[in-house]
Amino acid sequence: MRIWHVLIVGGLLLSVAACAGGEESRARAAGGLGAVSGEPRHETRRPSPSPPPSPPPPRDIDCDQVKCVSLTFDDGPGEHTGRLLDTLKAAGVRATFFMLGEMVREHPDIARRMVLEGHEVANHTWSHQNLTGLSAAGVRSQIERTQKAVKDATGVEPTLMRPPYGATDEHVGRAVGMPQILWSVDTLDWRHRSLARNTKVGVNEPVNGDIVLYHDIHEPTVDSIPKVVEGLKERGFTLVTVTEMFQGEKLEPGVTYTGRADEAAQLAGDPPPSGSPAGPPEAITTESR
Ligand SMILES: [Zn+2]
Repeated sequence: MRIWHVLIVGGLLLSVAACAGGEESRARAAGGLGAVSGEPRHETRRPSPSPPPSPPPPRDIDCDQVKCVSLTFDDGPGEHTGRLLDTLKAAGVRATFFMLGEMVREHPDIARRMVLEGHEVANHTWSHQNLTGLSAAGVRSQIERTQKAVKDATGVEPTLMRPPYGATDEHVGRAVGMPQILWSVDTLDWRHRSLARNTKVGVNEPVNGDIVLYHDIHEPTVDSIPKVVEGLKERGFTLVTVTEMFQGEKLEPGVTYTGRADEAAQLAGDPPPSGSPAGPPEAITTESR
């Protein structure tokens, strides 16, 4: 091989350079002596790059025919979300993540992993403000910044949103311009922080078509999910994303949905949340209802 021939002629110094710098240094050293001028460069075979991973195809699940439940996780992604994804992957089930834009910015790889493992990524605003207290422009900013953060991280633009605290009204509905997904089973995991309670409620309370609210930023919640999934499977449930739950139904922008069992319900006129919209950072860890 020509490269080794040149190294021998060039002596010790070139040999050292070749060892330290690898292929590029060797080529440069050899070229510097003019020894390979006009000759093809020494080539190393590189494996051809594997195609980027892509999300699994959508599933065709008819929740009129099988018993469905949607587990939803809010306010992340956070430090425990990777472990939750491990649990869901091991169990072969899919969930929906209503994420904060500011958290997606912190953990873009986790958000990307959600999509690659078949989960639904959805919009929970940028910074968990009570949208009923914002101007239309303020609401739109909370939504659009998050849409962009999720798209940048995952390649997917959410089609569903959940207003923080479940707080919404006609003004918010018009401004968000997306279906608003609430829940029909509130585990209150943020309040009790109890593995046992999370498990009991998550396994026993859901009925067909329910949407269950959890928060993946809390460790006891993530700890409880293996048993929750196991218990729901034993009860005959198929665990689906929210979009899978509503397959075949057109979800309208601005309208609020709490589960498949219920007719779409406008919650205009609901009382405001008890949490302060401009409260301390802990407010981010709670839903008031
Ligand atoms: Zn929330």
